[in-house]
Amino acid sequence: MITIIPGMRKKILIDMVQLRDYQECKPDGIFKDPSFNTEFKSIRELATFYFSCRKCGDAPCISVCPADALEKNENEMITRALNLCIRCKSCIMVCPFGTLMPDLFEKKSGDNYFDLNDEDELNRFVEASPGETIIFYEGDEDHEKHIYKLTERIMVRDYVWDQ
Ligand code: SF4
Ligand code: SF4
Repeated sequence: MITIIPGMRKKILIDMVQLRDYQECKPDGIFKDPSFNTEFKSIRELATFYFSCRKCGDAPCISVCPADALEKNENEMITRALNLCIRCKSCIMVCPFGTLMPDLFEKKSGDNYFDLNDEDELNRFVEASPGETIIFYEGDEDHEKHIYKLTERIMVRDYVWDQ
């Protein structure tokens, strides 16, 4: 699991299941923390590759990428090199499980990214998110409800594939 975010008090729940009902979701959370090795990678992308992705053995998303932007890390998790990705969406289209939501890698204006280390921005992120896709949450992991921990403060609801 990812590192704990110092100073972040509230816990949020990102409902990836509900998010799939939306054609696009402009607000996204990021960690502006140089010590965090996924700096500027969106929380939705992390949640997608952690929980939604089935970690295919042959990973067609990697094969189809024209920019060599995708690779598997030591935990078999797909990671995307932000500096290489040309946002062609080939990986999104080729994924046989619809893991990658259509808007996931789109370029959005900076206003749409909220620093999850900052309490005010965290509040705004929750407010700006559609419906109840991102809510404040006080519980813990609850696998019967498909709720899993991404970080100490960020929970994700998704149907995780059981190998
Ligand atoms: S094709 Fe889809 S499910 Fe398979 S590894 Fe790539 S993103 Fe994950
Ligand atoms: S969207 Fe990015 S990661 Fe996906 S196939 Fe295109 S270049 Fe590769």
